Amino acid sequence: MNEYIDSAVAQFRTLLEEQLARTGRMENAAPAKDFTALPVVTIGVIDGDGIGPIISKQSTRVLEALLKDEIAAGSVVLKPIEGLTIENRLAKGEAVPKDVLNEVKTCDVLLKGPTETPKGGTMESANVTLRRELDLYANVRPVSVPEEGIDWIFFRENTEGEYVLGSRGVEIPGKLCMDFKVTTLPGTKRIARAAFQYAKNNGKKSVAIVTKANIMKKTDGRFSEICHEVAAEYPGIEAEDWYIDIMTAKLVDTRVRSRFQVFLLPNLYGDIITDEAAQLQGGVGTAGSANLGDQYAMFEAIHGSAPRMIETGRGDYANPSSLLRAASMLLRHIARTDKAALLDAALDTVPHGGDTAKDFADRLIEDIEYRL
Ligand code: NAD
Repeated sequence: MNEYIDSAVAQFRTLLEEQLARTGRMENAAPAKDFTALPVVTIGVIDGDGIGPIISKQSTRVLEALLKDEIAAGSVVLKPIEGLTIENRLAKGEAVPKDVLNEVKTCDVLLKGPTETPKGGTMESANVTLRRELDLYANVRPVSVPEEGIDWIFFRENTEGEYVLGSRGVEIPGKLCMDFKVTTLPGTKRIARAAFQYAKNNGKKSVAIVTKANIMKKTDGRFSEICHEVAAEYPGIEAEDWYIDIMTAKLVDTRVRSRFQVFLLPNLYGDIITDEAAQLQGGVGTAGSANLGDQYAMFEAIHGSAPRMIETGRGDYANPSSLLRAASMLLRHIARTDKAALLDAALDTVPHGGDTAKDFADRLIEDIEYRL
């Protein structure tokens, strides 16, 4: 038994040193890139697994229609990134193979299809790896149900919490296992700033800080305290503390839910509650998300690769709206707000009605070309 304890203690030391080094890198980070002023924007397109290539292909067609003049002029480049497939990742034994990561790093922003993560084993999720490698610290997910007055935006911390060491837990076989959760000062400050700055820029009056600080006293406790320190820099915006359990209930309470505006959460709670919120909007097939960092940004659907749709031969019927909503967020991030508005207008008005991804994309393109 002692040798297991010794090896777990040694591993814990390594994890602490690595996380301290990461904290140091955040403290000394390079100034943020201005994504709104790039003379040439390279958009990397990653297909992913399962329904990924189907919705990615149709989303690319829609983007090509929207950006045709800029693509022709060379100010926007759509660059396919090959090799982020479950087959290649398993063959190479890497969550994101090095050559793929190098290609990814030649881009400014990414439009990414869903990628499969094997259950169990040690293969890390490609998303967790990309978020860490590209330091995409803010996962931003809007949810809107206009007829109910719901206009929410979630700022989920994306690089630490329960996920950063999720594949590095310790185990004493047959007895117990432990995972680790990490909250750092610079990591929490930057996500809190992103949320409060968004609130300030968009006239929002309150930010709900959602934790379980009564139980997870160190990590969530500090997360909440640091968020309040940042809130003090934003007079006029109220910082409210909520526990994740009651917030999960409030989101389905039709009497109060429309009062919420901006949510700020650690990684795991954000992951769970944003799927709940997306369901209120019409399902995971309707929701896009942004993973924002200071040097890169990645935009994707919030759902996974839907393997059952492929197994049952319904893959062609996957709804590309989720990835297209993500594409609209991408366009706003690179300051193509007029193109994003065109895409949103098409998505809001062209009914989906259960067609194939291709038929739906054809009708969206027709609508966009009419409005262009
Ligand atoms: P899933 O999100 O793939 O599917 C959940 C449900 O939503 C299924 O019923 C599916 O058919 C439906 N659905 C999803 N996207 C749809 C679309 N565009 N149109 C119509 N219906 C759609 O969830 P899962 O089955 O838990 O995960 C499958 C795989 O995806 C797993 O390997 C998981 O790790 C991975 N995953 C990846 C990401 C990502 O890359 N960002 C996110 C979540 C899950």
